[in-house]
Amino acid sequence: MTNPAEILGLPKPAWAADEVGMLYDMAHRFMSEEIAPRYEEFEKNEMVDRESWLKAGAAGLLCASMPEEYGGSGGTFAHESAIIEAIGHVGVDGFGIGLHNSIVAPYILHYGSEEQKKKWLPKLATGELIGAIAMTEPGAGSDLQGVKTRAEKDGNQYKVNGSKTFITNGQLANFIIIVTKTDPEKGAKGTSLIVIETDEVEGFERGRNLDKIGLKANDTSELFFNDMRVPTSNLLGHEEGQGFVQLMQQLPQERLQIGTGAIAMIERALAQTIDYVKERKAFGKAIIEFQNTQFKLAELKTEATIGRVFYNDCVARHINGGLDPVTASMAKYWLSDLQGKVVDECLQLHGGYGYMNEYPIARMFRDARVQRIYGGTNEIMKLLIGRSL
Ligand SMILES: Cc1cc2nc3c(=O)[nH]c(=O)nc-3n(C[C@H](O)[C@H](O)[C@H](O)COP(=O)(O)OP(=O)(O)OC[C@H]3O[C@@H](n4cnc5c(N)ncnc54)[C@H](O)[C@@H]3O)c2cc1C
Repeated sequence: MTNPAEILGLPKPAWAADEVGMLYDMAHRFMSEEIAPRYEEFEKNEMVDRESWLKAGAAGLLCASMPEEYGGSGGTFAHESAIIEAIGHVGVDGFGIGLHNSIVAPYILHYGSEEQKKKWLPKLATGELIGAIAMTEPGAGSDLQGVKTRAEKDGNQYKVNGSKTFITNGQLANFIIIVTKTDPEKGAKGTSLIVIETDEVEGFERGRNLDKIGLKANDTSELFFNDMRVPTSNLLGHEEGQGFVQLMQQLPQERLQIGTGAIAMIERALAQTIDYVKERKAFGKAIIEFQNTQFKLAELKTEATIGRVFYNDCVARHINGGLDPVTASMAKYWLSDLQGKVVDECLQLHGGYGYMNEYPIARMFRDARVQRIYGGTNEIMKLLIGRSL
């Protein structure tokens, strides 16, 4: 297949040079050799196995942006981007290490005490701990202020009651950051983030591994807390009530990371489709010779180029600490919308074969859909952008 990383023919941004480029190559090799050959099995089992997480840890692909003193590789978001792009270019999008690396681990780095960082980050870097973050509840998705999970202080423990749903890595994760209300009277200001190590608490239960239309190799789960006892030392931050502020501060990176997956899949879909239309024939000529095919692909390549330039600029700004929440919302909404459009048009150019699961574009079509929903729906992104007008 044509190399998705080169399909747009753009020069590499400065942040993707040198060791970031080498990390991309290494991650690409790892995903191609270790994950892709077993991907159908993982889709059937509806999760990647624990051994693959440990192998990714041993290969240096977990916690790439965490400091070396805590077991990470000392990189930046550019390194995380390289890994997620490799996942997208190889087409193993269900391997949930992007969330583990650039969403879960940063909460510990930014809000954890020295003791918490030393205890948890090295194990997140080896894959011994697999991370998840549980915000969404059956009754609270877009409106996180409606979270009902309650954590009541009882001596040196919290007693936690409630439930979560749609939690990525939710079947495998043994390290979960949960969004709770420590003081329901105070609304957002009564929200706290608490870590649970699932092997060490009673009253924790996993529900179903949810049956999704795409991202089949990723486990997405319900979680239940019934009088679950968690040490108060697992609170993130110096005091209760910081949860909402912590979430707001971390959401730009979560949103940008969804953009990473989007641009990587856009490039893969284009590369795959251009190869396909050169081979497939109708009316005595290759599909690419029809002007409609050329015009469609010309439009898609143009939009993909605009998307890539915007994405590269967002990463450059983010690693310098300058990516504001509004621009991060634009990246999430616009790139995931573009992903949906590109994948749909590319599938159309495959004709009936595009609808067959054995063709990669079919899986991309299923996997792409959720990008407009999770991490804050694209409607919520527009709401946030609208507030800046
Ligand atoms: C595969 C998958 C993985 C996920 N992983 C995680 C995870 O790891 N952790 C986690 O906490 N959550 C996770 N989620 C949950 C996800 O973040 C939520 O589904 C999402 O935020 C939307 O919430 P909801 O499903 O409750 O939809 P709702 O909030 O019920 O929204 C329904 C519709 O109403 C629209 N809407 C809502 N409010 C407004 C408004 N004010 N103005 C205009 N339109 C509005 C929405 O955009 C949407 O179209 C995941 C979801 C999926 C499907």
